[in-house]
Amino acid sequence: MHSIQRFDDAAVAAQEAVGRQTFDQVMVPTYAPSAMVPVRASGLDLWDQAGRQYLDFTAGIGVTSLGHANPAVVAALRAQADTLWHVGNGFTNEPVLRLAKALTAATFAERAFFCNSGAEANEAAFKLARKYAHGKFGPHKSRIVSCVNSFHGRTLFTVSVGGQPKYTEGFEPLPPDLHHIPFNDIDAARAAITDDVCAVVVEPVQGEGGVLPASVEYLRALREFCDAKGALLIFDEVQCGMGRTGKLFAYMGYGVTPDILTSAKALGNGYPIGAMLTTEAVAAAFTVGAHGTTYGGNPLAAAVALKVLDTINAPAFLARVGAAASYLKDKLDGVAQEYPQVFATVRGSGLMLGMVLSEGWRGKAKEITKAAEAEGLMLLIAGPDVVRLLPALVVTDVQIDEAVARLRRALDTVVAAQ
Ligand code: PLP
Repeated sequence: MHSIQRFDDAAVAAQEAVGRQTFDQVMVPTYAPSAMVPVRASGLDLWDQAGRQYLDFTAGIGVTSLGHANPAVVAALRAQADTLWHVGNGFTNEPVLRLAKALTAATFAERAFFCNSGAEANEAAFKLARKYAHGKFGPHKSRIVSCVNSFHGRTLFTVSVGGQPKYTEGFEPLPPDLHHIPFNDIDAARAAITDDVCAVVVEPVQGEGGVLPASVEYLRALREFCDAKGALLIFDEVQCGMGRTGKLFAYMGYGVTPDILTSAKALGNGYPIGAMLTTEAVAAAFTVGAHGTTYGGNPLAAAVALKVLDTINAPAFLARVGAAASYLKDKLDGVAQEYPQVFATVRGSGLMLGMVLSEGWRGKAKEITKAAEAEGLMLLIAGPDVVRLLPALVVTDVQIDEAVARLRRALDTVVAAQ
């Protein structure tokens, strides 16, 4: 009787009204979420607590690429949930083996390591690069080169490798032997990649740093300098991978192959999973016990990711991403031309686009995304000067038209308020 009473209390407590204000009462204040609280979503449509509909052009920051509650992904999750959730890495499992086979068949990689997030995939990559270099060349070869304005995650190692000092302030002392160079600057890379460098890490398209694609020449040069000095080239494709640029991974569009590639976000369409992909020779440095995580390669996450990968890695799917990307880019170019006082340019790759604010509108990206939300359009920022769009890859032309109409209304409002 007593235990049933407790269960009822818990059920009632779980149903107690909660809202945005509850966030300020019970959450560690690391985020400043929107006033509206999403409660359900399907495809690119999302509804808040008040039943208001929004078009989601954020995809949960580049995560729900197959749309919210994608039926095929939900079915894969449900089937696995009825079968086997978790065993721990003292045992392997069928979904993770299938996922690793599919990822290695689809890419340059011969080995996969799984974890739970982008930061963890990068943490694994940086640790692997250090371990590989220690074993092959000695402990002097430990420097990691990365780019100014890059973003690689929030663990102490990954945030320190990331090139945004605002995220490391107050967390010192930071890990040593890290070196930041300007993005897309070949001369700076040539000078920085010396014999003591174990790895160079780059986002083929910088996401958080402002939706900025690397040039082909830059990635080719990094490959050449790394080869010359025995350093590993790491591509962080956590945001730009998994079909976002119209290729399964962005490196495929550049024709430059890394030694290590990291993936997360869209890999699980909302179910947390990260992956680090590499060659057999590099992977060999991670011997038994060298690295690990309890949930890495969990059957639930792996079953979901396998369904996501199978869906995205199909020529017709990727061709449609390319077509949708050109359609959206044309529309946004049109908006930028209509509001020349607000926007300087539109840049990006595939369905990863940034509307760069003009000089006079610097710092007002958040103002624009708030106005868009008031019109029922969810957008992101990429720093204070760039409005970022990361719609699900399944976005239709009709949804793009509707989003652009809502964006225009929002811009009329913010322009009128100036
Ligand atoms: N790398 C890149 C390029 C990212 O954009 C992000 C997240 O935005 C990360 C790493 C970190 O991923 P996570 O937030 O899953 O740890």
